[in-house]
Amino acid sequence: MLSIRELLVLAVIIFVVWYGYRVYARIDSARTRRAADQARRSANKKPELDLVRCPQCGAYISDPNIHVCDPDGPAR
Ligand SMILES: [Zn+2]
Repeated sequence: MLSIRELLVLAVIIFVVWYGYRVYARIDSARTRRAADQARRSANKKPELDLVRCPQCGAYISDPNIHVCDPDGPAR
C-alpha cells in the first residue's frame, strides 16, 4: 500500500510531466505557426528574375526580347 508521502511524490511527478508536456506543446505550436507564416510569406514573394547575359553587349537582362543593345556596352 502506498503511503501519503509516496502518493505526494507520485502527484508531483505527474504534475511535472504534464506541465513539461504543456510547455513542449506550446513551443511546438509556435514553431509550426512560424514555419507556416514563413511559407506563406515566401509564396507571396515575387519570383526572382533570371538574368541572362546579352551576347552582343554583355549586359545582364531579364528579357532578351525587350532588350535594346547599348552600342557602348554596359558600364563596367
Ligand atoms: Zn545587348
